[in-house]
Amino acid sequence: MTPSVQFALVALLALAPLRSRAYEIQPADGMHEAMTVQSIECARAAKGLPITSCPRKPLVDLKVRRLQNTEDYQKVFSVNWPDGPTGIHAVSALIRTGLTYKKCTEYFDQMGANTNLFCRSHYGDLQFFHAMANQPNESADVVRARILAWAQFLYGVATSEIAPDEDVCTLFGRETVAGARFEALAGLWGGDATVCKPNAHWTVYTLFNWKCSNLFSWNKCKMGVESDGSWTRARAVGALLHMIQDSFALGHTDRLVNDDATQAMCGRALVSCNVVREFHSYRGQDSKKHGMSDQWPAFDSSCFVPERAVDDPIVAGAWVLKSIELKRSWAEVKRDLGDRVFPIANAVARPSSVGECFK
Ligand SMILES: [Zn+2]
Repeated sequence: MTPSVQFALVALLALAPLRSRAYEIQPADGMHEAMTVQSIECARAAKGLPITSCPRKPLVDLKVRRLQNTEDYQKVFSVNWPDGPTGIHAVSALIRTGLTYKKCTEYFDQMGANTNLFCRSHYGDLQFFHAMANQPNESADVVRARILAWAQFLYGVATSEIAPDEDVCTLFGRETVAGARFEALAGLWGGDATVCKPNAHWTVYTLFNWKCSNLFSWNKCKMGVESDGSWTRARAVGALLHMIQDSFALGHTDRLVNDDATQAMCGRALVSCNVVREFHSYRGQDSKKHGMSDQWPAFDSSCFVPERAVDDPIVAGAWVLKSIELKRSWAEVKRDLGDRVFPIANAVARPSSVGECFK
């Protein structure tokens, strides 16, 4: 793309309505950041585990830059990594525009796993970054398995069990292999994909430190510089919290108790603390309708009862952070994520779709 075309594109994007993929991030509303700050504060105040509640405070926009030079800055800033996984955070608030949809789906249809991380994660085969199905008609169990495998990887990086210099192609395996460490994601970076092509040598550090100047391509990218692995670990923490938070957005999952309840929330934003009835896929969704469910959410009454089915995203974020701090075993954390964030209502679970409210 020539610089003038790029400039025109940026100008076009700037004129487009501000709609982000999932909860907005700065420079739009900092919803992910606000939830993360509350989870951090809650985890810090807790002496240990379990954490079953956090102080109820309104979610307010905050300027992450103000946290610079504090120990929380990297984590809070990194919660937006999945929205801009090639390092273009300034435009990530503009993701859900018709233009990015069109270009990314075109690229993904042509290039599959060679498409860049931005398009793959928002419109292609890495939508589990955002707790979504990759396409309509996937079983809830398959999507959930991907989410938990990605969580396993992120938790391993966050706790330093997986080092920043480990090779991601070796970690995930170049082919689909039953019994592989991240079985549900085995082969994810394999084949002739950019990540694992000969001599590419993508490490965990590579994955989390791209700085690209073009939203849609790998051609204008270089690797960020990091001396101590702290950003790599922070981005893994942020990506884990991001996925948990996104899983409560109505455009991503349907956690409501029945179809009438779902219909009643069309066009609105709500955090519901119920089990997952369906994972949605973004392809085919109306981006404006998706954006409406990503506004500042109300918390449903289901989140306030002690016998709630799942923890709300702030409480879940708090015990995940505490688990990382205490280096709990993955087996325990997987069990809790499965039970307290991603349980599926087997009796009523449906294959993925765009969702009734997002057609
Ligand atoms: Zn997201």
